[in-house]
Amino acid sequence: MSRDAASAAPKRRTGALDYGLARERTIHAYKTGEATRSEVCDAQSELMRNALNCGVPSADRCPICKANSVVEVLYVFGPRLPAGGRCIVTNKDLERIRRWQGDFVAYDVEVCTDCKWNHLLRTNPVI
Ligand SMILES: [Zn+2]
Repeated sequence: MSRDAASAAPKRRTGALDYGLARERTIHAYKTGEATRSEVCDAQSELMRNALNCGVPSADRCPICKANSVVEVLYVFGPRLPAGGRCIVTNKDLERIRRWQGDFVAYDVEVCTDCKWNHLLRTNPVI
């Protein structure tokens, strides 16, 4: 699944938020000792399960353990979806949600399946 599917065409990205600066701050905190590895590598079991089963491999190495085990997991939150969001596995899942009434937001989360590093990368309205 292409992650671009969650963001639609670039012109329609109103409301998109990038969490790159927050991510860099967290990595910096780890490198300077302000944050421990267990604090930054704290993916919960459900996130790890989704990362292993439906994560899309990233070209980036893990910023913490340097393993080539980083995947991106896409969750959508909105009306009629579980409180913890729905993990999007295929483009069909996303297309179905696009047809529903209501405001939906996609959360793209980076996860390292080796060390449990995780961070929100961006959010996009599902339009
Ligand atoms: Zn890692």
